[in-house]
Amino acid sequence: MSDRKLQLIPLGGLGEFGMNSMAIRYGDDIIVVDAGMMFPDSELLGVDIVTPDFAYLEQHREMVRGLVLTHGHEDHIGGIPFLLGQINLPIYGTAFTLALVERRLEEHDLLSKAHLHTVKPGQKMELGPFSIEFIHVTHSIVAAVALAITTPLGVVIHTGDFKVDPTPTDNELFDLHTFAEYGKRGVLLLLSDSTNVDRPGYTESERAVRPRLEDIFNRAERRLVVSCFSSSIHRLQQILDLAAEYGRKVAFLGRSMLSVTEISHRLGLLHIPDSILLRPQDIMQAAPDKVVAIVSGTQGEPMSSLSRVAIDNHKHLSLQRGDTVVLSSRIIPGNEKAIFRMMNHMARRGADIIYGSMNPPVHVSGHGSAEELRLILNLVRPRFFVPIHGEYRQLAKHASLASHLTRLGLEESFVLETGETLEIDRRGARKGPKIAVGRVCIDSGTIDEVVEDMVIRDRRHLSEDGFVMPIIAINKHSGKSEALPEIVSRGFMSFEDGSPLLQQARQVVGKTLESSSAEERTDWGVMQEKIRADLKRFLIKNTSRRPLIMPVILEV
Ligand SMILES: [Zn+2]
Ligand SMILES: [Zn+2]
Repeated sequence: MSDRKLQLIPLGGLGEFGMNSMAIRYGDDIIVVDAGMMFPDSELLGVDIVTPDFAYLEQHREMVRGLVLTHGHEDHIGGIPFLLGQINLPIYGTAFTLALVERRLEEHDLLSKAHLHTVKPGQKMELGPFSIEFIHVTHSIVAAVALAITTPLGVVIHTGDFKVDPTPTDNELFDLHTFAEYGKRGVLLLLSDSTNVDRPGYTESERAVRPRLEDIFNRAERRLVVSCFSSSIHRLQQILDLAAEYGRKVAFLGRSMLSVTEISHRLGLLHIPDSILLRPQDIMQAAPDKVVAIVSGTQGEPMSSLSRVAIDNHKHLSLQRGDTVVLSSRIIPGNEKAIFRMMNHMARRGADIIYGSMNPPVHVSGHGSAEELRLILNLVRPRFFVPIHGEYRQLAKHASLASHLTRLGLEESFVLETGETLEIDRRGARKGPKIAVGRVCIDSGTIDEVVEDMVIRDRRHLSEDGFVMPIIAINKHSGKSEALPEIVSRGFMSFEDGSPLLQQARQVVGKTLESSSAEERTDWGVMQEKIRADLKRFLIKNTSRRPLIMPVILEV
């Protein structure tokens, strides 16, 4: 046996929420588990998505053997197009996960050069010195797997995201047996999902939402508008089944909703009852008590279908008094304001809004609570433990949840943050050197619009293209902007010295304001997004430049 060591290199998702990615290295071979993204805080205004900095992988590109995916949520696959832009590594995942990856790659014109390999739960494969077994777990998305990675030094188990659902709606059970078997044989290192460590007890089964949805179907006298994550196939199935039972037709609204339901239907994961589908353009013609619209945009994203519906800005659906709107999802922290604003618009139109985890719940979490995390710890009984997927407080709590295992062979738990490595050799495990990590901020989701993180990287993007800040003063009483908006810019050459282009740009913003409804104008999130989009289009067309655009709206 050699003196080589096993290294764990967290590239994202430890000590922060989202953009999960973990490199595992043995000698001169590296595999990567997941490459996610996160949506930025509002403090990074003008940036659409954030991914880990994959510089470590780029520096060691000749060692990287492949990317292995646990499941298809954005915080696990959303960074792939940006990673592939740097290294063309083979990608392994279940059919559904890869179908979602394909969709992302297509948007970035990368599909033709990607090497995607479908795997099945229960299957084993070799990647360099690593032998990887895929283990089925239950989660809010279908086709989720954990990984048992056998290395020359022992077995590493990476749970991915999971909850232990004893009654999954598709009857695909959590493969606890395999976890237990590895535990019996001895596991060197466990990496386990910490998202819900704060919740005592057990997370409810996906089936728990059925009675509540049934009650809603029972009572709704008019149109039903249901929103959930498009990847929540189990939830969509339950809604489709209820619609069939209650004689309602179903229309899907929103780009992601349409494409993900199409994918899952094609893969046989979503059963769409015969002739139940209604074309979006027919929603308003159909009898209101015979329709369910399933709409994307649970988080109040300003340009999503649901946000548009909320302010009568959707081509095919507007709310009327007595309609019922169901938000069958959680409120992601940071989105409260946008979601409540959207709900206010809906309530003003007389819609009945149902959301949150009331009892019985209209949404259940996809992550295991404390007892489920304990169950996995007890089955696997690892020698070393590293909590993953969570902010520091969650990782620390998860580590303390494992403390009782010290009697059962646990030598040490390590709370690592992104960039802090762990080294394991025959003598034991210890924290290793820190590696440079960071975040890459991307404007509008294409690779050529990468905005380097201002905190970590230099201000290259800003110094090349500068930034543009349209300042819009809206009259509190009239809701109107009385003068043409001002535009302040720095480092954006085309706007210097009162150029004619600057005047035209002011007109563009003015037009955006004029063409917006009174209600849109009261919704700053929507207005900022519209102004940014219109101005960006104008600037790219006329200057081929992409400055950072940060609209500021003032009430005067
Ligand atoms: Zn996740
Ligand atoms: Zn997930």
